[in-house]
Amino acid sequence: MTSTAPQDTGRQQQRLWSVDEHLADILAAIRPLEPIELQLLDAQGCVLVEDVTVPVALPPFDNSSMDGYAVRVADVQGASEEFPAVLTVVGDVAAGSDELPAVGPGQAARIMTGAPLPPGAEAVVPVEWTDGGRGGGAVTGMIPAGSAPEGAGGEVRVHRAAEARAHVRARGSDVQAGDLALAAGTVLGPPQIALLAAIGRGTVRVRPRPRVVVLSTGSELVQPGEALASGTIYDSNSFALAAAARDAGAIAYRVGAVADDADTLRATIEDQLIRADLLVTTGGVSVGAYDVVKEALSTAGKPEDAAEGAEIDFRKLAMQPGKPQGFGSIGPDRTPLLALPGNPVSSYVSFELFVRPAIRALMGLPDVSRPSLRAVLQADKAIGSPAGRRQFLRGMYDAGSGTVSPVGGSGSHLIAALAHADSLLVVPEEVTSVEPGTDLEVILLR
Ligand code: AMP
Ligand code: MG
Repeated sequence: MTSTAPQDTGRQQQRLWSVDEHLADILAAIRPLEPIELQLLDAQGCVLVEDVTVPVALPPFDNSSMDGYAVRVADVQGASEEFPAVLTVVGDVAAGSDELPAVGPGQAARIMTGAPLPPGAEAVVPVEWTDGGRGGGAVTGMIPAGSAPEGAGGEVRVHRAAEARAHVRARGSDVQAGDLALAAGTVLGPPQIALLAAIGRGTVRVRPRPRVVVLSTGSELVQPGEALASGTIYDSNSFALAAAARDAGAIAYRVGAVADDADTLRATIEDQLIRADLLVTTGGVSVGAYDVVKEALSTAGKPEDAAEGAEIDFRKLAMQPGKPQGFGSIGPDRTPLLALPGNPVSSYVSFELFVRPAIRALMGLPDVSRPSLRAVLQADKAIGSPAGRRQFLRGMYDAGSGTVSPVGGSGSHLIAALAHADSLLVVPEEVTSVEPGTDLEVILLR
């Protein structure tokens, strides 16, 4: 191979990289963040890095699954509507009770859901199987003061038999002490956080959410809410990408638009490094006169002019939108940086294809990319696509019919169409025209 020979340099720079090559290079350079101990709710969506074992059985004690009466099985045997068992109520057991009345022969204790099964009792009869203590009349409101425990003194009529352990949730029936509660590698969603809390864990060791700093570039950009001067537009990219970063699981810091001035951009990036696990810029990566990101970060031309420690590779990809892309690292910690093109649809599509996987790789998540599936193109006419480029069109997917329809055209400035799409239609590199009815790959964005 002579690809590094001087005469080939020109052609090397012209080389188009495939979407897959670019993503593979990014993922090869990204290392998952070091684990830290986090409070449970801060660990939501994160990957557990320790095996968590159960310290004490769950439930920790036998308890009632119903509001009713704790009884001895023999006492209610053969009980019926016609011939109810009449039991003396010896006390009340609420959830959280620690002093439990002993239930002897001919006795019952009123018990609430979650309350510990008192000694002597073998089953719980739900209150619906009883007269609710009204037969004796003394359980609610008529407790003899001072004499007996709360709830004692009355009678209850039970009109159905109960088997041993009926309506009793046994100690350890959920998990036993020493069991593996959650294995390292588990992604912590709400049910996993519930389990951790239930077994008493206050904190867990996880890979943290990456802190992603998003900055847009362009002297034409105005912050939404302010007045537009002639020739200016609102900065939508920094909002779109900060939102997308959050959606991917990151903690996003949106830096307002930076003017097209290399010194300002370098200084801003250097200031932001302190709080960044990943930097994302938009705009200024093509070949225009004010392509400031390239100017500020590229080491290809004049390394001495590039930002401190910048090693960013600017490439052209065989994709549409999103042809110009930059990727590398910057600063003393070699923080990864992705430089995305400025057109709003280009930057968003680039985010979905490259930044989202980078964020998820930093988190150590197993699935880094959006899910995709196959769907049938529904359209009035064939859609054209440039040869040699993988095209990503905005679409609306219909799961019922398994079809996808294009939304808006291919213009990379069409923000409204993007806002009304839920998916990306993928037209492969070699395909230049897609007939309605063709089966296509669809990337689901929601
Ligand atoms: P650039 O890559 O910087 O030349 O930008 C390409 C196009 O995208 C230009 O029309 C820009 O005005 C537009 N653009 C760049 N950045 C943003 C942004 N943050 N929000 C909205 N439009 C942008
Ligand atoms: Mg620009």
